[in-house]
Amino acid sequence: MEASLGIQMDEPMAFCPQHDRFQAEGSLKKNEQNFKLAGVKRDIEKLYEAVPQLSNVFKIKDKIGEGTFSSVYLATAQLQVGPEEKIALKHLIPTSHPIRIAAELQCLTVAGGQDNVMGVKYCFRKNDHVVIAMPYLEHESFLDILNSLSFQEVREYMFNLFKALKRIHQFGIVHRDVKPSNFLYNRRLKKYALVDFGLAQGTHDTKIELLKFVQSEAQQERCSQNKSHIITGNKIPLSGPVPKELDQQSTTKASVKRPYTNAQIQIKQGKDGKLMKQSKTVDVLSRKLATKKKAISTKVMNSGVMRKTASSCPASLTCDCYATDKVCSICLSRRQQVAPRAGTPGFRAPEVLTKCPNQTTAIDMWSAGVIFLSLLSGRYPFYKASDDLTALAQIMTIRGSRETIQAAKTFGKSILCSKEVPAQDLRKLCERLRGMDSNTPKLTSDVQGHASHQPTISEKTDHKASCLIQTPPGQYSGNSFKKGDSNSCEHCFAEYNTNLEGWNEVPNEAYDLLDKLLDLNPASRITAEEALLHPFFKDMSL
Ligand code: ADP
Ligand code: MG
Repeated sequence: MEASLGIQMDEPMAFCPQHDRFQAEGSLKKNEQNFKLAGVKRDIEKLYEAVPQLSNVFKIKDKIGEGTFSSVYLATAQLQVGPEEKIALKHLIPTSHPIRIAAELQCLTVAGGQDNVMGVKYCFRKNDHVVIAMPYLEHESFLDILNSLSFQEVREYMFNLFKALKRIHQFGIVHRDVKPSNFLYNRRLKKYALVDFGLAQGTHDTKIELLKFVQSEAQQERCSQNKSHIITGNKIPLSGPVPKELDQQSTTKASVKRPYTNAQIQIKQGKDGKLMKQSKTVDVLSRKLATKKKAISTKVMNSGVMRKTASSCPASLTCDCYATDKVCSICLSRRQQVAPRAGTPGFRAPEVLTKCPNQTTAIDMWSAGVIFLSLLSGRYPFYKASDDLTALAQIMTIRGSRETIQAAKTFGKSILCSKEVPAQDLRKLCERLRGMDSNTPKLTSDVQGHASHQPTISEKTDHKASCLIQTPPGQYSGNSFKKGDSNSCEHCFAEYNTNLEGWNEVPNEAYDLLDKLLDLNPASRITAEEALLHPFFKDMSL
């Protein structure tokens, strides 16, 4: 509805200061764009130089993704007779370990190419530069479409994600970085693809031979500990910008030549808020987390229950600092608990966050649960934390502190929490966040309102990290395709607007499945195969 504001819009705007500002902003944007374009052009030229054989086959058009460990480009190629094909070229950073690269490729070639798992067409190498050529799948930005998806689309999205996970889990691949940007979704064509095996690890009986040789972070850390207790790795700056690896939603890759490992450097928050580097590694972490009302402090230790199975468990639980927020000298002298921790904090399962050494395909199912939570609540990212204990505390606010502590015991971890927080009813939570709850007057005020009586956790020192990060109840923009796609799909989704279809009668099965995915205990968490057979998907077939 249009409301008259009493402004004469047909008046000349030429001398209007507002108009000048718009003009200035416009040209600033244009400059920024030009600067970016020049950067992309330079990167493309560099890639042609590094791997010259690419120019015989591909016309590289644009850069479509840039992570810590790779850059992805959109290219076209005349591979067979017929029209040009669109190809995604993933250029891996030259410092990636050859086995890591080969393992990523083997995941794509052996498990990929069907059941929504990305396949591979070619691979090019010159010296230490490797480029993987994959079929290009035009895809949406998750955030842009989140609030315009119909309930049926959400069902299809989750079904297809489980299909991909079932496929890779059958091959004994643990993806370790399941999140929307690694699960490409083309809404119009209803096409899906799980990508990015850069962090994948094998189960003990993996069928991907090379995954058996991929050193887990745990193994690397054990090795580095055996060699020396002295910090020898590349040091990270303790002032200035935070390295990308430490950025809260970024991914920590387990490649062998990572710039540093967690075993080498421990960062603790000093009293004055400055970062301090510790000379010795510790196995007990302690961090205070602020809620609106009261601070919760959490602490994870190896519990006596699993002492025999966990590799470097403490000899005793009753040291000087047990149940306090200090780290005593006994604990400081303990060896670092090592376990794979790669992935993105907000999607990490409790057993990953607590460094449980025995991790399985169940960690991918937890991550799928976090995606489902976003889809049902309309909030993304749902959890946003810069460190593992904050992430764990955030999980507690949804799943309950007692429940989390109880579950952690089953995998040998003892969690201390200064305050008890109850588990939340998933339906009520999602409906409230989605604004479907009639008792809730306004969507945007909801999280705060909720936080005031239930401890929604935010990090005192990091304004970006709060338990539930709000996303404006987005309208579908009409062009949510990733960069490089705009030409071909400008009008594809004009018909999609915020879609309420099906959202007023979400069946109980949805929340039952969500509950089973966000099972704090990995041993009882639903598998991908079981999820596909869940009543939530009753009329859908593989
Ligand atoms: P990284 O290890 O840097 O995260 P990814 O394999 O996840 O690399 O790719 C980064 C981004 O590139 C993806 O999020 C996606 O947007 C884009 N991308 C990757 N593979 C493809 C593909 N086959 N088709 C289209 N886009 C792709
Ligand atoms: Mg990725």
